[in-house]
Parts: sequence; structure tokens; C-alpha cells
Amino acid sequence: MADPRGFLKVRDRELPPNRPVEVRLRDWQDVHAHLEEGQPFLKEQAGRCMDCGIPFCHNGCPLGNLIPEWNDLVWRGQWSDAIDRLHATNNFPEFTGRICPAPCESSCVLGINQPAVTIKNIEVSIIDEAFARGLVTPQVPQRLTGHTVAVVGSGPAGLAAAQQLTRAGHTVAVYERDDAIGGLLRYGVPDFKLEKVHIDRRLAQMEAEGTRFRPGVEVGRDITWAQLEARYDAVVIATGATVPRELQVPGKALAGVHVAMEFLHQANAVAAGKPVEDQITAEGKHVVIIGGGDTGSDCLGTALRQGAASVTTLAIGKRPPQERPAHQPWPTDPILFEVSSSHEEGGERTYLASTVEFVGDDRVERLRVAETEYLSDGRRVPKAGTEHEIPADLVLIAMGFTGPETPELTEQLGIELTSRGLVQRTDDFATTVPGVFVAGDAGRGQSLVVWAIAEGRAAAAAVDRFLAGDTELPAPVAAS
Ligand code: FAD
Repeated sequence: MADPRGFLKVRDRELPPNRPVEVRLRDWQDVHAHLEEGQPFLKEQAGRCMDCGIPFCHNGCPLGNLIPEWNDLVWRGQWSDAIDRLHATNNFPEFTGRICPAPCESSCVLGINQPAVTIKNIEVSIIDEAFARGLVTPQVPQRLTGHTVAVVGSGPAGLAAAQQLTRAGHTVAVYERDDAIGGLLRYGVPDFKLEKVHIDRRLAQMEAEGTRFRPGVEVGRDITWAQLEARYDAVVIATGATVPRELQVPGKALAGVHVAMEFLHQANAVAAGKPVEDQITAEGKHVVIIGGGDTGSDCLGTALRQGAASVTTLAIGKRPPQERPAHQPWPTDPILFEVSSSHEEGGERTYLASTVEFVGDDRVERLRVAETEYLSDGRRVPKAGTEHEIPADLVLIAMGFTGPETPELTEQLGIELTSRGLVQRTDDFATTVPGVFVAGDAGRGQSLVVWAIAEGRAAAAAVDRFLAGDTELPAPVAAS
């Protein structure tokens, strides 16, 4: 244990400040100031870890991150050992250390009577320091098995599965329909939360290890699922949950009403210097975002940086975030507003707001909204007599995702689905077609990066066992 009295000496969290709002709104760079600002308090924060007899943070994290161990190593300044312990359970701490809602911190035992240890900031500091010191090197397999695996989808689930399987000696190709690898990390999450350099340097490591990348190939169209299955010894479906939940109200077809990912995909492409024709932009517009989760807050930060005239976020949630207890840094109720850096930057938020109609001739001009009423059976409905209109030139629907796109999967491969429309799977990530596995949001439904990485690792273990008869790869989670 690092410092037996650390949590008694330092009783508060200390984090590097975010860059000032007026500065960061002028660019797309990370809102956080991590290494560049220096963190003299990092050692003290790591020293606050009590190394509990039962470290609940292990269970709080789907990856089973060995948090007390690397807190101790950071306290001792042993960066090389710290990154080894972190990489032992997490392929991509540079992603989770930046954008995970950190269920580990909600599970920190210290949180019972003190603010939780700053686990997420310690995690990102370890991996940033490791890259800066040249400690992240390719782990090339010692021998090849001769088995081939196709991973379809290059989000965190697909990448984690691909890295594990490549390191186990299999020959792995990752297929991605977008022009660049990364899934939602590339074209969903904006640079101000996750700069793309973090994806690119990890991809360079994976390429050096032997993983092959096939961007610009849509499986089901450019090559059929059946062809892929015949060509490879195993297939991992990691295609995400990409079907947006629509809002079925009058006026939905008006110009200016978009699902959030249309907007965010284009904004991320432009931020990467790619040409986008007729970009959907918030510049000079009254923007209304429907939905108060991660996607909604990413739309907010993006719209503010594009120069929106106003941004209003509507959510049906009934409790404002300040009702959370002070020691609980993350929202636990999915209908609450997410509280992200974007909310420090501007925009209005309206709770208990139900959209009744989009109003306009050809283009949307206004939104008719009403207060949300909670019925005794739990249903939420617009409350009679509370309707009013708000101006809107651009509406972004950020109400989540219902599941994966499945017509080609079912037609070409005969994959069976759950009643929710997700890819059906056994506990160990096998689908109903032998040799075909599933990981991440495609099987789990919309979730989090940390779950996608955990499932990618676990699915890789199942594939390895299928191909080799046994496996030494870790399986941090089961599918059920
Ligand atoms: P994805 O990341 O969705 O990747 C799937 C990939 O498969 C995509 O690139 C897609 O193009 C590709 N694909 C689909 N079909 C095919 C096909 N037929 N052929 C080839 N390629 C195909 N989670 C957090 O933990 N923290 C956050 O801050 C956060 N912010 C988010 C912000 C937004 C805007 C969104 C939408 C989600 C956010 N999430 C966040 C959720 C997180 O991004 C997802 O849970 C995670 O990316 C899922 O990983 P995945 O690998 O399963 O799928």
C-alpha cells in the first residue's frame, strides 16, 4: 500500500483544471489540461487510495482494472510497472481515461465519507506518461497459429478483440465501412473530448503487431457476410448499435431536423480536415437538442464551437443533476442529464420537456413542446394545457440508439436476434452461427466504451478457444 495515512492527510480530490471556456470554444482541442499543465498533486491523489481489503473499484470497472496496484505504483513513481498493470486489463486506457463515466469512482470505498480517489485522472496520466516515455511498444506474437479472423466494425469492441487475437498469434483483419478506423471514437465523440491522435497512435501499435485494417469496406454490401464467413476461420461482429431512436411526431420530415449522428459525423470529418458537401452546421442558428445524454452534450459542445445563436437542450428527465449527493461525481440514473464539460460552455437546459410537433413550412422554424407528466404506470406523456413553442432552425435528435443494423446479417448469414433486435449470443459471445461471435453494442445494446473494450477482450478469449481448443486470454465479463 502506497501511503497508509494518505487518505487522512489529503481528504479532497484535486484534478487538473479544464482549459478556460472562452479559450476552448475557439478550437476543437481537448478541454482538459492533462500532462501539459503538470500535476504536482498526482502522487498525493494516488496516495489517497486505501488499498481496501475488498477493492470494490475492481468490480465497479467492467475491465476489472487493478486500480489499487497502479495507484501504488504511481505513488512510488514506477511508471513502467504502472502501465504494465494498467495494460494487463485494459487495451486502451487512453480512451477510458478520457471519456469513461468512471463507474470505478462510484465504487471507491473512500467515497463513503470522502470524495472518491481521482482514478480516471490517474489512469489517463499513466498512459500519457507511458506514450511520452516510449513505453508503449508493439507486442508482436512469437508465433502465428495459421488461423484467420475477420472483425467487422472498428469501434472499441472490434479493436480490443482484434488486438487480443493478433497478440494470440491469429491473423486478423478489421473491416470498417467508414473511411477511417475508430468507430464512434472517430466519428461520434468530438475532438474536444477525445483528440484523434490518441486513436492513431494506438492503431500504429496495432499495425506493427500485425493487425490489418480494411477501411471503406461495408460488409453486407461490398462483400457479403456469407463470403466473409467462408473466407475466415472466425468472424467477430462488432458493428455497434447504430440505428437511432426516432421521435415520431408531426413535422419530423421537415428540413433542419436531423438525428444527432448525421451532425456529429460531419462535424468530426470537418475537424479532421475532410471535405463535407452541404455540411449541417449550427452557425448562426437557434439549435434545439432533444436528449440529455452523452450524444446530446456532444452536440451541444459542437454547436457552440460552430457559432450557434442559441442552444437549448430538452430532456424528459425529472431531476436536475445537483440533486445527486455531493460525493457522487457521476449520474447514475440514465434519465438524468449528463453533466459534461459542454454544459460549462453555454446553452440552456429544460427538464421535463416533451416535444409534441416540429413546426414550419419546408424547414423547421419552431418546436411545440409540453411539460412531461409521469403517469402512475411509469409512462411519460405531454401534460395537457402546458404546450408552448420555442424557436428552432436546427433540431438534433439525440435520443439514443435502438440496436444494430441487421437486415444483411439475418438474410446473408441467418443470424438470430433477440426480442430487442440485438444480435443473440451465448454467455461467451457466440452467435447462433458457429464460428461467428459478437462484441460491444451490437450484442449489448447502446452502452459505454469501457463495456465495449471488456466485451471485445472476452469475445477474443471465446474466439481463441474456438480456434485453438483452449485459451489463456482473459475474459473480464460474460455476455449475460
Ligand atoms: P461502435 O463504436 O459503434 O463501432 C461500430 C463500427 O462498426 C462503426 O465504425 C461502424 O461504421 C462499423 N460498421 C457497422 N456496420 C458495418 C458493416 N456492415 N461493415 C463494416 N463496418 C460496419 N461512451 C462512453 O463511455 N463515454 C462517452 O463519453 C461516450 N460518448 C458518446 C458520444 C456519442 C455521440 C455516442 C453516439 C456514443 C458515446 N458513447 C460514449 C458510447 C460509446 O461510444 C459506444 O458504447 C462504443 O463506441 C461502442 O463500441 P462498439 O465497438 O460496440 O461500436
